Order: sequence, then structure tokens, then C-alpha cells
Amino acid sequence: MNPAALDEFLRAPRIAYFSMEIALESGIPTYSGGLGVLAGDTMRSAADLELPLVGVTLASRAGYFRQEIDSAGRQIEHPSLWNPAERAVPLPAKIAVHVDGRDVWIASWLYVITSHIGGSIPVLLLDTDLAENDAEDRHITDVLYGGDAEYRLTQEIVLGIGGVRMLRALGFRIERYHLNEGHAALLCLALLRRTRWTERPGEHAQALLYNVDEVRGLCAFTTHTPVEAGHDKFSYEVAERLLGRWKDMALLRELGGEQHLNMSLLALNLSGYVNGVARSHAEQSRLMFPGYRVHAVSNGAHPLTWTASGFREVYDRHFPHWCHEPEVLGHIDTVENAELWAAHAVARGALRDFVHNRCKVLLSDNVFTLCFARRMTGYKRPDLLFSDLDRLRRIAAVHPLQIVIAGKAHPHDVEGKRLIEILHRHIADLQPDLPAAYLPDYDMDMAKLMVAGADAWLNTPLPPLEASGTSGMKAAFNGVPSISVLDGWWIEGCIEGVTGWGIGSAQDAASSHGTILYDKLERQVLPLFYGDRSGWMKVMKGAIRHNAAMFNSHRMMRRYATDAYLHRA
Ligand SMILES: *Cc1c(COP(=O)(O)O)cnc(C)c1O
Repeated sequence: MNPAALDEFLRAPRIAYFSMEIALESGIPTYSGGLGVLAGDTMRSAADLELPLVGVTLASRAGYFRQEIDSAGRQIEHPSLWNPAERAVPLPAKIAVHVDGRDVWIASWLYVITSHIGGSIPVLLLDTDLAENDAEDRHITDVLYGGDAEYRLTQEIVLGIGGVRMLRALGFRIERYHLNEGHAALLCLALLRRTRWTERPGEHAQALLYNVDEVRGLCAFTTHTPVEAGHDKFSYEVAERLLGRWKDMALLRELGGEQHLNMSLLALNLSGYVNGVARSHAEQSRLMFPGYRVHAVSNGAHPLTWTASGFREVYDRHFPHWCHEPEVLGHIDTVENAELWAAHAVARGALRDFVHNRCKVLLSDNVFTLCFARRMTGYKRPDLLFSDLDRLRRIAAVHPLQIVIAGKAHPHDVEGKRLIEILHRHIADLQPDLPAAYLPDYDMDMAKLMVAGADAWLNTPLPPLEASGTSGMKAAFNGVPSISVLDGWWIEGCIEGVTGWGIGSAQDAASSHGTILYDKLERQVLPLFYGDRSGWMKVMKGAIRHNAAMFNSHRMMRRYATDAYLHRA
């Protein structure tokens, strides 16, 4: 018997959205960064728009990790434990998947995302912490992106194959499967097998033979990785051993690649609809995978989630249905500057208080605040802003400037961790000329404070490595313009001097980006902020008018609905 909470979700067919990570809420550590937040925003938009989705992910009982930073700027990782029983409802079904010759039992938890304007979306959190499993298997769904290749592949078997079986066992009828990144590609294998599909629990079972074409008709795949090396790959030796019963290795090689089992390739070959997450990323993906038709659906951020309370009130007053139709923010010019600036001042104050509580750094109320926060890793170049400390000091001596930074490095990313240390050294070097803080343990709540409390949002990736980037979209909802290298979404979102500023162009060498950034700050951004407040407000409004109205997850989900879900491959 299913709990009543599940019944309402079983009445009509649904689209199953599979993702290794889904950011349900800030206090539930089932996400590491942009991919998980996007998955969460996808679910939240589906709830707002009453689209019939069901999310499938892992319980990640030990989370990604909690970040501590010691006095030398070194990252220390702690498990981020949470108890699903406190936030989700246990579901009765248990199923097993075959891994390395044994059965691994899986149960699931129901977490319901409820929209304040209408619908709700069920998310299933798969969990192997069951008495039926041996001690080691109980930890399969513990650590997000933890462990070695075998641990990862086992998690992907649980997510992909286990997820498909769990949906069936619970009585879901699934019309489409949406793979958020290649991690979920094994779900296509589960569909490929000859399976018994129970139309409705209790009624007669109907046998269906899925072939490749049928599976392609059922699957949509969103790739998020702009470089070949970033795609999830496993050796066939490991794959054959762990997958066990999947005997048809010849077919697997044909679909997943000759050398390695490449999860993106597997997903590409078994999905009738494929897309990248920004126009340039789709182009990049076509070059990487010639012969595949890769569409572009640019990412978006969830309107309500990423809008600070002061801005929510402004939007509620002027555009009462903005949470359903964020395009109406295109009319932001009808709002008085003073009203918008008051909302911004509240958001700045909230960030100032938070920074003071966390790091004892005192930000000034009247000083331009530049924020940078995201995963700390080489290609994001978080040190670009500090490439010439003397120049930065000279700029700040004329136009005062303060900086807030945050971000975690993956535990295995040596370069990313080194960058965190370097940033701490730069921050120390700049005192007392330039107030700056590094906030430890970046998460959604902190992101929300930062994207609203900043005066400008900085992004400095090395092109073409930023598939999309989403934090600048969140900033736009709060009237915060971006200063960013033209890569990912910003190629589409940047109107120079109108929505923010681009750093360089396709012709400029990446090595010149530091100088260009300093020039922009010194000659355009800071003089505008301090010298022409109404000119500055125009840019704030430009960010809202163009970027919040466009780069929201409602537009994204309406695109997925028409192009990926209704489309027949
Ligand atoms: C939005 C977000 C990210 C992703 O930021 P990008 O700019 O896309 O790299 C990462 N972590 C958290 C907590 C976020 O909210």
C-alpha cells in the first residue's frame, strides 16, 4: 500500500526527470552546485507551471560535504549528514538491482515540492541504507560524487536502473524520461531490456519489448559538459563486472563507445531529443559529437527562489502574476528608481550582516560590492580578479571597492583547493586597502544572499569551458548586473552597458582578460556607480528587463515541454 501522499501523483502519466543531484532546499545537502540547483529549479518551475513531472535522484545521506577553511586557507571536508526521515516520507516499495553478482536492495523517500501558486511535484530519493544490504552496500547512496569509479558506477546503476524499476514498483506511468547529464544514462539500458510493464497495479500485466528506436522515442538527454574529458567514462572491465546480467557487451560497446563506456555517448545514442544548455554549448557539443543533432535550451533560474524578499514585494505590487509569467518583468521600467533602490539597499544590508557574522569582516554600506561565488576549479579562474594586486589597489584608491567570495572545491580537485588557498593569501595581502571576505561553506542560502546583496556579479571562466553558468541569472532577478567573460549564457545575456559588461570578445586572448576586467571596472563600471546613480539604475533595470525576463526556469521548462516532451522523435 502506498501512502496517500503518493496517490495523487499516480493518477496520470508523468515525465520522469533523472538527476544525480537535486537541490530540494538549502538544508538538504543532496546537491554539489550548479547542476543540482538547476535540477531543483526545474522541479520548482514544473510545480509552478503544473507540469506532470516526477524527479528521481539519490538520497545522498552524507551529502556532498560541508566546507571548513583553516587559518591557512586550506579546505577541510566534513560529511554533511542529513536524515531523510525528518524531511521526507518513506515509501513502501523495495526493489533490487544486480551489481557485481549480488542483489542491492533499494527503497525510496518521497519529497514533495509544493508551489505557492498551484502545483506540486514528487521527487523520489533512492536509498540503499537497508537491513537487506550488507554493510558496504548500505553506503552506496551516501556520498554525492564521492569514492572511486566503481562507487560512481554503482551509484549510476542504482539511479538509472534502480530508478526505472522503482517508478514501476510504485505504480508510476512514465511517458518520457529526461536525463539530466550522462549520469542517468543507464536508465536507457533498463528500458532496453525486455520488461513486463504493469499498466495499472492489480490489472493484467502486458509484456513490451523495447528496441532502440522505442527507447529513443522515450528519452530526452540534456548534456552539461563542454569538454571531452569531462564526460563520465568507465572501463568495460569494471562495467562488465558491475553490470553483470547485462550480457550484451557487443551492443553496449556499439552504443557507449569502443574504448570506454562513455555515459554521454550512451545517452546520445538512446535519446531521440538531445540538447545543450546554452547556444554556444550546443555548438560545442555538435563539434564534440559530430553526426548528432544537438538542440539548445538555455538554462534559467527559478523566479521566486532567487528573488530576495524586497524585490518580491516590488514585483508583487507591480506585476502580480510574475511568478507564473516572469516575462512581465520586461516592464520593469514602469517601476520608480527609488523603489528599486530601496529593495537593493535591504539586500545589501542582509549580505553585510551575514558577512559580519560569518567572518567578522565589516563591509561598508556605501561601497561598491563585487561578488564571485561558484565551484572553485581551474577553468573558472577565481584568481583572475587578483592577477595584479597593485592595479587593484590603485583602482580601489580612487573608487572604493569591496569583495565577497565563496565556493567549494571538489575533494579530489587539487588545483581548485590550491586556488582557495591563493585567494585567502590575496585577501590578506589586500588588507587594509580593500575589504574582502571569503565565506566558507557555500550553499543555496548563501548564494541567495550574495546574488542579491552584490552591486555586480563577477564571472571569469576560460572559454569555452562554461557550458552555461546560472548564478548571473539569479543575480538578474535582483537587479544585479554581471561583469563576465563572454562564455556560456552570457554570450546571449550580455548587452554591453545595458544588462552588464562583457570581459573581452572572441578575438581577445584569454591572457588579456585580467587587464580588460581592470579597465572595465576603472573606466566604466565604478565611475557609473559612483558618478551617475540614475545611469546605474538603468543597468539594474536592464538586467531585470532582459535577463530575468528571459533566463528563468519557466521559459526553460516551457521549451522542454514543447520541444523535448511533446516532440515525437
Ligand atoms: C547557482 C549555484 C551554483 C552555480 O553557479 P554557476 O555560476 O553556474 O557556476 C553553485 N552553487 C550554488 C550553491 C548555487 O546556488
